[in-house]
Amino acid sequence: MVKPTAKTKKWFVDRCEDGCQICGMKFPHLKSNGLQWSHIISPNDGGSDIEINCLALCPNCSVAFDVILKPAIYKAIDKFYCGMMPKSWEKGEGRKSI
Ligand SMILES: [Zn+2]
Repeated sequence: MVKPTAKTKKWFVDRCEDGCQICGMKFPHLKSNGLQWSHIISPNDGGSDIEINCLALCPNCSVAFDVILKPAIYKAIDKFYCGMMPKSWEKGEGRKSI
């Protein structure tokens, strides 16, 4: 597992200024606006604390991401793409990049 570097930690602190990456909530009275690292690929599956694998999410969205979105995305990809990610996801399917 790769440990977060000073650069990655700074990225996370800067990223938290905009609020949760899903709902936009901020909790200004808490450190990092109350947001936390949420891994796209969890450390148990080989993911690390690098920027491309992390989202800054509020506690509610972090749980929803892990418990609702990940299983739903996994099932859809497993059924339709046999484990291969659709190329159209690379830049955000049907949306302008954020
Ligand atoms: Zn949120």
